[in-house]
Amino acid sequence: MKIVFLGTGGGRDMMIAQERRTGGLFFDFDKTKFILDPGPGSLYHAVSLGLQPDKWNGVLLSHLHPDHASDVNAYLDGMTSPFLVAEEHCLIEKRALERGKEKTDFDYHPCVTAYHQEKSSVHAMKDGTSAEVNGVKITAVKASHYIPTTGFRISGSQTDAKGVMQSFDVGYTSDGQYYRGMERHYDGCRVLIINVVIPKGGEAKRPGYMSVDGIITLLNAMKQKPSLVVLTHFSFWFLRSNLWKQEKIIQDATKVRTIHAEDFMSLDLSTLAASQLKKKSGF
Ligand SMILES: [Zn+2]
Repeated sequence: MKIVFLGTGGGRDMMIAQERRTGGLFFDFDKTKFILDPGPGSLYHAVSLGLQPDKWNGVLLSHLHPDHASDVNAYLDGMTSPFLVAEEHCLIEKRALERGKEKTDFDYHPCVTAYHQEKSSVHAMKDGTSAEVNGVKITAVKASHYIPTTGFRISGSQTDAKGVMQSFDVGYTSDGQYYRGMERHYDGCRVLIINVVIPKGGEAKRPGYMSVDGIITLLNAMKQKPSLVVLTHFSFWFLRSNLWKQEKIIQDATKVRTIHAEDFMSLDLSTLAASQLKKKSGF
Protein backbone atom coordinates (compact mmCIF):
# COMPACT_ATOMS: atom_id res chain seq x y z
CA MET A 1 0.00 0.00 0.00
CA LYS A 2 1.35 3.36 -0.93
CA ILE A 3 0.69 7.02 -1.66
CA VAL A 4 2.33 8.63 -4.70
CA PHE A 5 2.69 12.41 -4.76
CA LEU A 6 1.84 13.42 -8.33
CA GLY A 7 2.68 16.96 -7.35
CA THR A 8 3.76 18.96 -4.32
CA GLY A 9 2.95 22.49 -5.50
CA GLY A 10 -0.05 24.60 -4.56
CA GLY A 11 -1.61 28.00 -5.14
CA ARG A 12 -2.20 29.81 -8.42
CA ASP A 13 1.36 31.15 -8.88
CA MET A 14 2.84 27.69 -8.50
CA MET A 15 0.12 26.10 -10.62
CA ILE A 16 0.76 28.35 -13.61
CA ALA A 17 4.56 28.02 -13.27
CA GLN A 18 4.65 24.23 -12.57
CA GLU A 19 7.98 24.63 -10.73
CA ARG A 20 6.45 22.02 -8.41
CA ARG A 21 3.79 19.85 -10.07
CA THR A 22 0.14 19.96 -9.05
CA GLY A 23 -1.13 16.43 -9.72
CA GLY A 24 -2.47 15.55 -6.26
CA LEU A 25 -2.03 12.28 -4.37
CA PHE A 26 -2.55 8.78 -5.75
CA PHE A 27 -3.68 6.27 -3.09
CA ASP A 28 -2.90 2.67 -3.94
CA PHE A 29 -4.55 0.29 -1.45
CA ASP A 30 -3.99 -2.69 -3.78
CA LYS A 31 -7.72 -3.44 -4.18
CA THR A 32 -8.85 0.21 -4.16
CA LYS A 33 -7.03 2.93 -6.04
CA PHE A 34 -7.98 6.59 -6.25
CA ILE A 35 -6.65 10.06 -6.88
CA LEU A 36 -7.06 12.87 -4.36
CA ASP A 37 -7.15 16.52 -5.52
CA PRO A 38 -5.96 16.12 -9.13
CA GLY A 39 -4.75 19.53 -10.29
CA PRO A 40 -3.27 20.31 -13.72
CA GLY A 41 -0.91 17.65 -15.05
CA SER A 42 -2.22 14.89 -12.80
CA LEU A 43 -3.35 12.48 -15.50
CA TYR A 44 -0.24 13.07 -17.61
CA HIS A 45 2.11 12.39 -14.70
CA ALA A 46 0.13 9.30 -13.64
CA VAL A 47 0.50 7.80 -17.12
CA SER A 48 4.15 8.83 -17.45
CA LEU A 49 4.96 7.02 -14.18
CA GLY A 50 3.21 3.85 -15.37
CA LEU A 51 0.50 4.04 -12.70
CA GLN A 52 -2.27 2.88 -15.08
CA PRO A 53 -5.08 5.31 -14.17
CA ASP A 54 -7.44 3.42 -16.49
CA LYS A 55 -7.55 0.77 -13.73
CA TRP A 56 -8.27 3.18 -10.85
CA ASN A 57 -11.59 3.27 -9.00
CA GLY A 58 -12.35 6.89 -8.21
CA VAL A 59 -11.57 10.47 -7.28
CA LEU A 60 -11.64 12.50 -4.04
CA LEU A 61 -11.97 16.29 -4.10
CA SER A 62 -11.41 18.49 -1.04
CA HIS A 63 -12.55 21.69 -2.78
CA LEU A 64 -13.07 23.17 -6.19
CA HIS A 65 -9.91 25.27 -6.61
CA PRO A 66 -8.27 24.40 -9.95
CA ASP A 67 -4.92 23.43 -8.38
CA HIS A 68 -6.93 20.63 -6.70
CA ALA A 69 -9.58 19.75 -9.25
CA SER A 70 -8.77 20.61 -12.86
CA ASP A 71 -8.24 17.00 -14.04
CA VAL A 72 -11.30 15.50 -12.33
CA ASN A 73 -13.51 15.24 -15.44
CA ALA A 74 -10.77 13.62 -17.51
CA TYR A 75 -10.23 10.97 -14.85
CA LEU A 76 -13.94 10.24 -14.40
CA ASP A 77 -14.35 10.10 -18.17
CA GLY A 78 -11.68 7.43 -18.55
CA MET A 79 -12.52 5.28 -15.52
CA THR A 80 -15.04 2.44 -15.53
CA SER A 81 -17.85 2.93 -12.94
CA PRO A 82 -15.88 5.43 -10.84
CA PHE A 83 -16.75 6.74 -7.41
CA LEU A 84 -16.52 10.44 -6.65
CA VAL A 85 -16.19 11.68 -3.08
CA ALA A 86 -16.31 15.47 -3.22
CA GLU A 87 -16.90 18.50 -1.02
CA GLU A 88 -20.48 19.40 -1.91
CA HIS A 89 -19.74 22.76 -3.58
CA CYS A 90 -17.72 20.88 -6.23
CA LEU A 91 -21.08 19.57 -7.44
CA ILE A 92 -23.49 22.49 -7.42
CA GLU A 93 -24.28 25.72 -9.22
CA LYS A 94 -24.99 28.45 -6.69
CA ARG A 95 -25.17 32.15 -7.42
CA ALA A 96 -24.24 34.52 -4.67
CA LEU A 97 -27.09 36.57 -3.27
CA GLU A 98 -26.97 40.21 -4.30
CA ARG A 99 -28.03 42.63 -1.60
CA GLY A 100 -27.97 46.11 -3.07
CA LYS A 101 -24.72 46.16 -5.01
CA GLU A 102 -22.78 44.07 -2.55
CA LYS A 103 -22.37 40.35 -2.89
CA THR A 104 -22.71 38.46 0.35
CA ASP A 105 -21.21 35.18 -0.77
CA PHE A 106 -19.08 33.59 -3.49
CA ASP A 107 -20.50 32.15 -6.69
CA TYR A 108 -20.08 28.39 -7.01
CA HIS A 109 -19.83 26.63 -10.32
CA PRO A 110 -19.54 22.84 -10.30
CA CYS A 111 -16.02 21.74 -11.21
CA VAL A 112 -17.45 18.30 -12.06
CA THR A 113 -19.74 18.42 -15.10
CA ALA A 114 -23.33 17.16 -14.85
CA TYR A 115 -22.44 14.37 -17.27
CA HIS A 116 -19.50 13.17 -15.17
CA GLN A 117 -21.55 13.35 -11.96
CA GLU A 118 -24.18 11.24 -13.70
CA LYS A 119 -21.73 8.51 -14.70
CA SER A 120 -20.15 8.33 -11.23
CA SER A 121 -21.23 7.02 -7.87
CA VAL A 122 -21.28 10.39 -6.08
CA HIS A 123 -20.80 11.08 -2.37
CA ALA A 124 -21.36 14.77 -1.56
CA MET A 125 -19.35 15.60 1.54
CA LYS A 126 -19.39 18.26 4.24
CA ASP A 127 -17.86 18.45 7.71
CA GLY A 128 -18.39 15.23 9.61
CA THR A 129 -19.98 13.14 6.86
CA SER A 130 -18.49 9.76 5.97
CA ALA A 131 -18.49 7.59 2.89
CA GLU A 132 -17.54 3.95 2.52
CA VAL A 133 -16.08 2.97 -0.84
CA ASN A 134 -14.69 -0.49 -1.58
CA GLY A 135 -14.01 -1.04 2.12
CA VAL A 136 -12.24 2.30 2.60
CA LYS A 137 -13.82 4.71 5.11
CA ILE A 138 -13.52 8.36 4.14
CA THR A 139 -14.57 11.00 6.66
CA ALA A 140 -14.78 14.69 5.78
CA VAL A 141 -13.06 16.93 8.32
CA LYS A 142 -13.69 20.65 8.71
CA ALA A 143 -11.03 22.82 7.05
CA SER A 144 -10.72 26.55 7.61
CA HIS A 145 -9.97 27.74 4.07
CA TYR A 146 -11.61 30.79 2.47
CA ILE A 147 -14.05 28.71 0.40
CA PRO A 148 -15.87 25.56 1.58
CA THR A 149 -13.24 22.83 1.93
CA THR A 150 -12.96 19.52 3.72
CA GLY A 151 -9.93 17.63 4.86
CA PHE A 152 -10.19 13.85 4.85
CA ARG A 153 -9.44 10.98 7.17
CA ILE A 154 -8.99 7.78 5.18
CA SER A 155 -8.94 4.51 7.07
CA GLY A 156 -9.63 0.81 6.81
CA SER A 157 -7.84 -2.43 6.15
CA GLN A 158 -7.31 -4.53 3.05
CA THR A 159 -5.37 -7.62 2.13
CA ASP A 160 -2.29 -6.76 0.10
CA ALA A 161 -0.91 -8.52 -2.99
CA LYS A 162 0.75 -11.13 -0.73
CA GLY A 163 -2.52 -11.88 1.08
CA VAL A 164 -1.48 -10.10 4.28
CA MET A 165 -4.08 -7.93 6.02
CA GLN A 166 -2.84 -4.32 6.22
CA SER A 167 -4.57 -1.48 7.99
CA PHE A 168 -4.17 2.22 7.23
CA ASP A 169 -5.23 5.49 8.79
CA VAL A 170 -4.19 8.61 6.90
CA GLY A 171 -5.17 12.24 7.51
CA TYR A 172 -5.09 14.92 4.84
CA THR A 173 -5.76 18.47 6.01
CA SER A 174 -6.20 19.99 2.54
CA ASP A 175 -5.94 23.80 2.48
CA GLY A 176 -6.74 25.87 5.54
CA GLN A 177 -5.41 27.33 8.74
CA TYR A 178 -5.29 25.76 12.19
CA TYR A 179 -8.51 26.12 14.21
CA ARG A 180 -9.26 25.10 17.79
CA GLY A 181 -10.38 21.48 17.94
CA MET A 182 -8.78 20.48 14.64
CA GLU A 183 -6.54 18.05 16.54
CA ARG A 184 -9.53 15.94 17.62
CA HIS A 185 -10.30 14.97 14.04
CA TYR A 186 -6.80 13.73 13.22
CA ASP A 187 -5.95 12.27 16.62
CA GLY A 188 -4.47 8.78 16.31
CA CYS A 189 -3.97 8.75 12.54
CA ARG A 190 -0.69 7.10 11.55
CA VAL A 191 0.28 9.46 8.73
CA LEU A 192 -0.80 13.10 8.52
CA ILE A 193 -0.36 14.97 5.23
CA ILE A 194 -0.47 18.73 5.68
CA ASN A 195 -0.82 21.42 3.01
CA VAL A 196 1.41 24.19 4.31
CA VAL A 197 1.88 27.65 2.83
CA ILE A 198 3.36 29.89 5.53
CA PRO A 199 6.91 29.37 6.90
CA LYS A 200 7.88 29.85 10.56
CA GLY A 201 7.15 33.38 11.74
CA GLY A 202 5.43 34.36 8.49
CA GLU A 203 2.12 36.15 8.18
CA ALA A 204 -0.28 35.66 5.29
CA LYS A 205 -2.03 38.55 3.57
CA ARG A 206 -5.36 36.88 4.27
CA PRO A 207 -6.52 34.08 6.58
CA GLY A 208 -7.21 30.53 5.42
CA TYR A 209 -3.73 29.04 5.02
CA MET A 210 -1.74 26.67 7.20
CA SER A 211 1.47 27.92 8.80
CA VAL A 212 4.40 26.13 10.45
CA ASP A 213 3.26 27.70 13.74
CA GLY A 214 -0.24 26.29 13.14
CA ILE A 215 1.19 22.81 12.52
CA ILE A 216 3.15 22.93 15.77
CA THR A 217 0.00 23.92 17.68
CA LEU A 218 -2.00 21.18 15.95
CA LEU A 219 0.49 18.39 16.68
CA ASN A 220 1.16 19.41 20.26
CA ALA A 221 -2.59 19.46 20.97
CA MET A 222 -2.99 15.83 19.88
CA LYS A 223 -3.36 13.09 22.49
CA GLN A 224 -1.96 10.50 20.10
CA LYS A 225 0.42 12.07 17.61
CA PRO A 226 0.98 10.61 14.14
CA SER A 227 4.04 8.48 13.38
CA LEU A 228 4.82 10.64 10.37
CA VAL A 229 3.92 14.12 9.12
CA VAL A 230 4.37 14.87 5.41
CA LEU A 231 4.43 18.49 4.25
CA THR A 232 3.21 19.33 0.74
CA HIS A 233 1.35 21.95 -1.41
CA PHE A 234 4.29 24.36 -1.54
CA SER A 235 4.17 27.99 -2.59
CA PHE A 236 7.22 29.86 -3.90
CA TRP A 237 7.34 31.61 -0.52
CA PHE A 238 7.59 28.30 1.33
CA LEU A 239 10.17 26.89 -1.10
CA ARG A 240 12.38 29.95 -0.60
CA SER A 241 12.20 29.38 3.16
CA ASN A 242 14.18 26.10 3.06
CA LEU A 243 12.05 22.95 3.32
CA TRP A 244 14.64 21.13 5.42
CA LYS A 245 14.76 23.97 7.94
CA GLN A 246 10.96 24.19 8.18
CA GLU A 247 10.49 20.46 8.73
CA LYS A 248 13.23 20.46 11.38
CA ILE A 249 11.51 23.33 13.22
CA ILE A 250 8.30 21.26 13.32
CA GLN A 251 10.09 18.07 14.31
CA ASP A 252 12.07 19.74 17.10
CA ALA A 253 8.97 21.46 18.51
CA THR A 254 6.67 18.41 18.39
CA LYS A 255 8.93 15.32 18.42
CA VAL A 256 6.97 13.99 15.43
CA ARG A 257 8.99 12.68 12.49
CA THR A 258 8.40 15.25 9.73
CA ILE A 259 9.41 15.14 6.07
CA HIS A 260 8.58 17.22 3.01
CA ALA A 261 7.22 15.52 -0.08
CA GLU A 262 8.95 15.60 -3.47
CA ASP A 263 7.22 15.39 -6.83
CA PHE A 264 6.75 11.69 -7.70
CA MET A 265 7.67 10.50 -4.21
CA SER A 266 6.14 7.19 -3.22
CA LEU A 267 5.38 6.62 0.45
CA ASP A 268 5.08 3.01 1.58
CA LEU A 269 2.27 2.90 4.16
CA SER A 270 3.61 -0.21 5.90
CA THR A 271 7.21 0.87 6.44
CA LEU A 272 6.68 4.66 6.06
CA ALA A 273 9.75 4.68 3.81
CA ALA A 274 9.83 7.17 0.93
CA SER A 275 11.32 6.53 -2.51
CA GLN A 276 11.31 8.33 -5.88
CA LEU A 277 9.45 6.96 -8.90
CA LYS A 278 10.92 7.31 -12.39
CA LYS A 279 9.08 8.21 -15.59
CA LYS A 280 8.70 5.60 -18.32
CA SER A 281 10.95 6.12 -21.32
CA GLY A 282 9.38 8.35 -23.93
CA PHE A 283 8.02 10.83 -21.38
ZN1 LIG B 1 -7.44 26.15 -2.14
